[in-house]
Order: sequence, then structure tokens, then C-alpha cells
Amino acid sequence: MHAQVLHAWGDALKYETVAVPKPRAGEALVRVEACGVGLTVLNYMNGNQARRADWLPRIPGHELVGTVVETGAGVEHPRVGERVMAYFYLACGHCDLCRLAHEPLCRNLRGNVGVSADGGYAEYCALPAFNLLPVPAGVEPVAATAIPDAIATPFHVSRRASIAPGDVVVVMGAGGGVGIHMVQMARLFGARVVGVDVGDAKLAAAREAGADAVVDTGQGDAAAAVRAAAADGVSVAIDFVGSRETLALCLEVLGKRGRLVCLTTFPGITADVSPRRLVHDEISVIGSRYASRWEMARAGELVAEGRIRPVVSEVVALERVPELHAKLRARTLIGRGAVAF
Ligand SMILES: [Zn+2]
Repeated sequence: MHAQVLHAWGDALKYETVAVPKPRAGEALVRVEACGVGLTVLNYMNGNQARRADWLPRIPGHELVGTVVETGAGVEHPRVGERVMAYFYLACGHCDLCRLAHEPLCRNLRGNVGVSADGGYAEYCALPAFNLLPVPAGVEPVAATAIPDAIATPFHVSRRASIAPGDVVVVMGAGGGVGIHMVQMARLFGARVVGVDVGDAKLAAAREAGADAVVDTGQGDAAAAVRAAAADGVSVAIDFVGSRETLALCLEVLGKRGRLVCLTTFPGITADVSPRRLVHDEISVIGSRYASRWEMARAGELVAEGRIRPVVSEVVALERVPELHAKLRARTLIGRGAVAF
């Protein structure tokens, strides 16, 4: 089968022919129909999360959607012929945190799809049955690639930050793959949304996704513009960019009882937080890590019901994945990209 293969952390992908994997006990073999392309894939390929030599060579891509063609011993679900989408975290499923549907915090985590196990930048992929959830009827494969991460993550954020009607939510990186779905999800949870990004194209996309106001950080005083858009102060600031500057901007614009939500994990990045400020305004700082399998299933239902619209702006063949990666690095891709087979 054809595959994009990573041979060293931080290296470019190589387009190669490799053997089709055999599903082991507890696994299912998926004929991949589409796979999402986003910044998270690049962050893992760069070795920002882990640089284990024994995880190489590796086929990246965690937002894969496809049809089950074979199952290993002991697998009842999914069944052959079923269309499935992949859950990103290789969690154990039986520790106390997995049982509480906090799988990203699993005590026996074995890494991630496309990082410690081969992912969807290939024609076939074998994964634990635990990691394969059904795609709701009526959702096409390319659209479905946005569900496992780009839409499930905003659903988790909305619950972590208790977003509710009356809230004003700032989305930092509102034109990006997760941000553009966060704009939609925050609206669905009842909030008014201020989308923040750089450049007209991304801000127009954020508006189209439902942002009530947009702010360009590349022009003028961004903090003043956000404050002007949120009369009584921002209730929730969600940072998908994760730079020292965006974290500072989030903290600066938060109003009373404001919640800062962090999702990025870039090494060496810190933010200055004044306890005085936290106390005076009762500010909360919240970490949000991916989503549970239950949340991913719910995210799929929201798409099937037409309440969240997947934004996949560019679809390419497998050999052209590096072109989408280049656009992600240049920050010019609107929403998500995808590979289709
Ligand atoms: Zn577990």
C-alpha cells in the first residue's frame, strides 16, 4: 500500500510502498477513505510531544475515517463493512480515569494514533477496536475527518469552561482547524463569540462560522478591539495559538469571573499570571486536553444533525500531503485540510 512515512522526528515525510498491516487480537483493519490534516500532526511529527526512537518509522495522521475490512480475534465491534472514525488517544479503557470518560488522562496511556501506532496517511490502518467509533449515517468521509479532533475538542472545551448563554467567548486562532469549529460550538452552547486571528481570509471564515465580531491581531490595539466587542468583559478566552503574546492577550481581556482555557503544549512557553489579578476578578485558568470517546460520539451527532458544519477547505491526494503541511506552517489554511483516497 502507499503511505507517507516519517523516519526521524522533525524530518520530512517519505512517500513509500509498505506492507498492509494485519490486525492483531483486539484490533480492526480499516481501509482509509479520508484523513484530516492539521497542526497537531505537525506538532507530533516535529517531536514536540515525544522523541522516542522505538516509535519510528511511523505513518502519521490521527483523524482517519474509513471502512472496516477485517477484524482480529475477539473483536465484536466494529464490524466488517462499518464506517468508523479514529479516537486519538491509545487509552487502556479500564483504569479509573478511563471509566470516568477521562481517557486522555488514562493512567496507562500508550501514546497516540499516528505517533506510537501507525495512522491514516496510508491506504490501510490497523487500530485497537476501542479506538474506532462509528461514523453517524449521512456524514461523508471527508466531513467526518473533522469530528475526532477538530469538533470533539471544542465540545470538550465548552464543557470544561462551562460555556453558557450570556457568556462572551474569545477564540484565539478562530480561522484555524480547531478554532473555526470552536466558534460554532461556543455559539451552539449559547455564547456570543469574538473571533481573533490574523488576515482577512481567516477572519472572513470565522465570521462565516458564526463569530459575532472579529479582531485582527495584526492591526492596531487588539486588546482594545476585543474589549470594545465585549461590553461587560470576556467570560472565556480560548487560546489555540499558544504563544506568549496570545496568552498575555487572553489574560488581559478577561473580565470578572473570566476563564482562560489553554490547549497548546509547546515546550518552553510560559505566561505571566498575577495572583492579585486572579483574586480581584476571580479568574480561572483551565487546561483542556482533547476529548473523551463519549464527547467524540456526541460531536458526530452534532454534525449529523447539521448543528455543526465541518470546515474542510482543501482536500488532496496522499502524495500531496506535504503541500498542505506547508500551508499549515505558513498559517494560510482555512479550517482543516484532508487527504482523500
Ligand atoms: Zn485508562
